Amino acid sequence: MSARILVVDDVIPNVKILEAKLSVEYYDVLTAYNGPDALQIASESLPDLILLDVMMPQMDGFEVCRRLKQDPETAHIPVVMVTALSETADRVQGLEAGADDFLTKPVDDTALFARVKSLLRLKMMMDEFRLREETSSELGVINMSDRKDEAIQRARILVIDENQFSVRQITEVYAATYDVTMEADMEEALKMLRSGDFDLAIVSLDAANFDPLRLCSKIRTFEETRQLPILTLVDEGDKDKLLKGLEIGINDYVMRPIDTNELIVRTRTQILRKQYQDRLRYNYHRSMELAVTDSLTGLYNRRYMGNHLEALLQRAKMDYKPVSVFIMDIDYFKNVNDTHGHDVGDNVIRDFAARIGMSVRGIDLACRYGGEEFVVVMPDTDLAVASTVAERLRRQIAEKVFVDPRTGVELDLTCSIGVTVSREQENSDTLLKRADEALYSAKRDGRNRVVVTPAGPAVAERSPSLAVR
Ligand code: GH3
Ligand code: MG
Ligand code: MG
Repeated sequence: MSARILVVDDVIPNVKILEAKLSVEYYDVLTAYNGPDALQIASESLPDLILLDVMMPQMDGFEVCRRLKQDPETAHIPVVMVTALSETADRVQGLEAGADDFLTKPVDDTALFARVKSLLRLKMMMDEFRLREETSSELGVINMSDRKDEAIQRARILVIDENQFSVRQITEVYAATYDVTMEADMEEALKMLRSGDFDLAIVSLDAANFDPLRLCSKIRTFEETRQLPILTLVDEGDKDKLLKGLEIGINDYVMRPIDTNELIVRTRTQILRKQYQDRLRYNYHRSMELAVTDSLTGLYNRRYMGNHLEALLQRAKMDYKPVSVFIMDIDYFKNVNDTHGHDVGDNVIRDFAARIGMSVRGIDLACRYGGEEFVVVMPDTDLAVASTVAERLRRQIAEKVFVDPRTGVELDLTCSIGVTVSREQENSDTLLKRADEALYSAKRDGRNRVVVTPAGPAVAERSPSLAVR
């Protein structure tokens, strides 16, 4: 995974050392020797990661970090503070400024690359989602101002730790802010994580009765928990375990003895990130949904149905299976609007959609084709079955009076349906056209009826040159 990394330090040899280490691993390295230059390069080149020295004259690293995180253009770039001091106060101040991680000088290679890789992986995923969110908003399927604000809702945390003292300490720290659940058993914890909607797992790496790294690896393996952030608690002597954990994909760690301030800020960072990620994913799915469905009825929209039908027919070409379709149109619908108003008309359309939804099978695809017209696509279905479904729907609509939920207005409505089935080697245009012609016949013959048109011979066979044979 190649990426562009900006290294910022006022001491030239420090920059050179990091630059050399990163270049060897094929990262593209940018450098800056003071805060203002760093800000300018960051906003011009938008690097994928910034390694930022804390102590610099003019503008220190905390201030640079704060400014980067305040600017919407650069806020998403992960920042790793590099500091000679391992003072917790410094780390807390950095996290408060919005830093994503820390490295202590002299920088340890394994820790450097573990952290860099983990942050870059996260950033790439976030970039992808951000891009999709922007596209959705440009297309008008998502209103950016609808986004949930980023305030932390009451997040749920599961702490997996056997140490009673540490469990008590964590509970006290979290009680006011989060819903905390404790679990000392690994299998039980995994079960809870897979079924519950937790925002963070805290795993102590010094458990005696189970292998905590195995638990972390299982959390990363299961679909339901793959995206769950893991924060680990590590004894100073357990560096090997920690590095292994970082490789497996734990998101962050706090060293024992636990500094409560550090625990608080690191917890908050992970939860914010998780909620941001959830929001992007939610918007992404929502925009997909909005792009393919009709907003009034929730049925698929015309464009989606067209693509889907075409794909079905292509598949049916290789291994011919009949695809049936019908088009349904409400009879004298204009009268409903004219007599009772557009809102009642809308409710009728919704009710029709619901009735269609109830009378078709799961594999059938129901779509709103236009104003008060609907299309149902039935894969692997012959004309006899399709006609039965259409006739049942027609009868059900004619027999059950429509009641407008808001006004109580009662209406006897009927519909007309045209049914047909695909012939071999057919595309969606001609198939829908044939169904539409059947619908037109149903209207012309008096409405409230189903007209069925068989597939018939292919168009080419009806051409004059072939007809003389
Ligand atoms: P027919 O039996 O020949 O189908 O007669 P009709 O009145 O149903 O047909 P026509 O196509 O003349 O009228 C359809 C009407 O549907 C016209 C349009 O104003 C109305 N319409 C289209 N979309 C909507 C909608 O989303 N909501 C409402 N309330 N009315 C709609
Ligand atoms: Mg310095
Ligand atoms: Mg109509």
